[in-house]
Formats: sequence, structure tokens, C-alpha cells
Amino acid sequence: MQRTPGTSPTLTLVPGVDTDWEGRKLHIRRRRRGCVSKGFRVDSLATGQCLCGAVTFRISGEFESFFLCHCTRCRRDSGSAHSANLFSSTAKITWLSGEANIRTFRLSGSRHVKCFCTICGSALPFSQPDDGVLVVPAGSLDGALGRRPDAHICFSVRADWDDDLASLSRFDEFPA
Ligand SMILES: [Zn+2]
Ligand SMILES: [Zn+2]
Repeated sequence: MQRTPGTSPTLTLVPGVDTDWEGRKLHIRRRRRGCVSKGFRVDSLATGQCLCGAVTFRISGEFESFFLCHCTRCRRDSGSAHSANLFSSTAKITWLSGEANIRTFRLSGSRHVKCFCTICGSALPFSQPDDGVLVVPAGSLDGALGRRPDAHICFSVRADWDDDLASLSRFDEFPA
């Protein structure tokens, strides 16, 4: 995809249509820099790491979107109800350690990509193959994001146990 200087893509959800962070049915709208109202800076220099600590990284720049994707691929990939990914067309990532331990898996016939630590399997950031958009698993970042997700996507195909989860009992530790 050709990038026009001075513009940045913004992911736009289509009302009433299930969308997917892999780009299916997602409309990419380009706006002039400075007019992107949804852009947010997690931190001028956000850092993150995998579970075992071998891979560490730093990200500078702003994210345009933050989506929780409930599609089948994201559920299998994450082993959970949904993925939680931040998206940026302009942020830059710097690998600080463990780059030799990073592996990228792309599901054949799809745009679904998973980047992970070969020691502990933790999800790590990657750039989407087609447009270079940086995708960062929210859980891989250190510290607080200071920002709620923008939306659930692919919500109609969520797991059958994934409904009204906010109403469940809450414990601060593993219940006895
Ligand atoms: Zn690791
Ligand atoms: Zn998904």
C-alpha cells in the first residue's frame, strides 16, 4: 500500500458490520496529520517485554486504535476471549534485547500474524505485512496505558462463555 507523506491512516469501524483487526471489512481512512482525533500517546517512550524477560522493546509514537478482537483466530492465538491490540501507522519500535528469540508466524491464506518469544511464547509487537501498521499486544507493555479500548470487534462470533463478563464475582487473589 502506498503511503502518502503527511497523512496517517485511521481504522474506521463500519456500523453494524463485524470487523476484524486483520483488515477484513475494516475501512482505512486517511486524514491529514494533526486532524486525527483518536490518536493517543501511551507514553513518549513506552517499554515492554515478554514473560521470561529475554525480549525487551521500546516504542515511541502515538497509537490510533485499540481493539479487542473476539474472532476465532484471535481466540486460538491468545487462548482467551479476545486479543487486545494497539495499532499505529507512525510509532516506531526498537528492540532492546532478545531479538534473536523473536519468531513471526503468519497463518497461511490470511493476514493473521503472531509474533512471539521462542523461549516463553509471549505475544510481541509486529508490523503488518501489507501496510506496515505496528500492532502491539496491550499486555506486553509495561505500566499503565491510561486509556480504554476503543471497541470490541468481531463481537458476534465471540465464545459462548464470553457474555456480560463484567458482572462476574471479583477477587483480588485466586479464590480459595
Ligand atoms: Zn520470553
Ligand atoms: Zn481477530
